[in-house]
Amino acid sequence: MEKIAREIAAKITGPVKRSVPLKNYTSIKIGGPADLFIEPQNISELAYVTASLQKAGIPCFILGSGTNLLVHDRGYRGAVIRLGGEFKKYCFTGLQVVAGAAVPLPLLVGEACRRGLSGLEFAAGIPGTTGGALVMNAGAHGSSLGDLLVKAEIFSCSSQEVHTYLPEELELSYRKSSILPGQVVCSVTLQLEKRAMAEISAVCEEFLQYRKIRQPLQPSAGSIFKNPPGGIAGRLIENAGLKGCRLGGAMVSDVHANFIVNFRQASSEDVAKLIDMVRTEVAKKFGIKLELEVRLLGY
Ligand SMILES: Cc1cc2nc3c(=O)[nH]c(=O)nc-3n(C[C@H](O)[C@H](O)[C@H](O)COP(=O)(O)OP(=O)(O)OC[C@H]3O[C@@H](n4cnc5c(N)ncnc54)[C@H](O)[C@@H]3O)c2cc1C
Repeated sequence: MEKIAREIAAKITGPVKRSVPLKNYTSIKIGGPADLFIEPQNISELAYVTASLQKAGIPCFILGSGTNLLVHDRGYRGAVIRLGGEFKKYCFTGLQVVAGAAVPLPLLVGEACRRGLSGLEFAAGIPGTTGGALVMNAGAHGSSLGDLLVKAEIFSCSSQEVHTYLPEELELSYRKSSILPGQVVCSVTLQLEKRAMAEISAVCEEFLQYRKIRQPLQPSAGSIFKNPPGGIAGRLIENAGLKGCRLGGAMVSDVHANFIVNFRQASSEDVAKLIDMVRTEVAKKFGIKLELEVRLLGY
């Protein structure tokens, strides 16, 4: 690890660190160390980093803002790649915006609103990066990022090339895309429409207020489960009597039952056990097997 870290650090401008605690990079504040933590600043650095890791047989994981991620306390035996530099840039032209994958989604929502460009209001209050939002097809209030997508630039770690994908090629559906672990979203182009800034701002404000009341303030990883077809995961968990249920430092939120919060230095094991318990109880009571929305790392 030491050798490859030194080699990469000598070639790229972004930071290359060893043994970085991932709890500092996840919204639920849980996660052990990644062997390597590398921040390529542009596509050529990303290509160099992924090729070097591949040659050395070191697995890698692309991290956004870690807002839909549960990392094991043991951490990750490989390299975590977090995009920086060029990937944080965005550019509005006419009714479209091209946003780098590392642009925070809330920033994009605000910038679109300031320009009187509508479409992203649904995302007001969704944390994370634009790249993470495309992979997860993040959404709320009946809309999702995929609805606005014109195209996405995606780097393939195996071919070392960037390809342009149209929305229909990414199989975007409810919290799902066909983007695989060996693919890195570099940028997305979104189509917006003109609307009065005051109107956009009012909708964003309404959605933000809605979240303030219905989502916990304690550290969480967003929704743990996807809504099953025709049902609402939070309601099923609540009706199974699990709201407020605690295990170690983890708790099924008493505000929104589909959130597990880290209320007192929870371990990844606490959260994993609570997830299992919720799944088992919901399956027993309603015969429904809940599917995870949150992504796991190091398990
Ligand atoms: C309080 C709270 C509220 C939330 N509300 C919502 C909501 O209303 N709707 C909703 O959909 N989600 C919600 N989420 C979940 C989360 O914010 C979204 O899923 C978000 O889009 C994840 O982005 P991220 O950058 O944090 O991705 P991460 O959590 O870092 O990663 C998620 C996955 O995407 C991959 N990934 C990230 N970036 C890239 C990239 N550039 N290229 C390739 N792969 C990449 C990762 O490898 C991982 O598999 C909420 C989370 C929290 C904490």
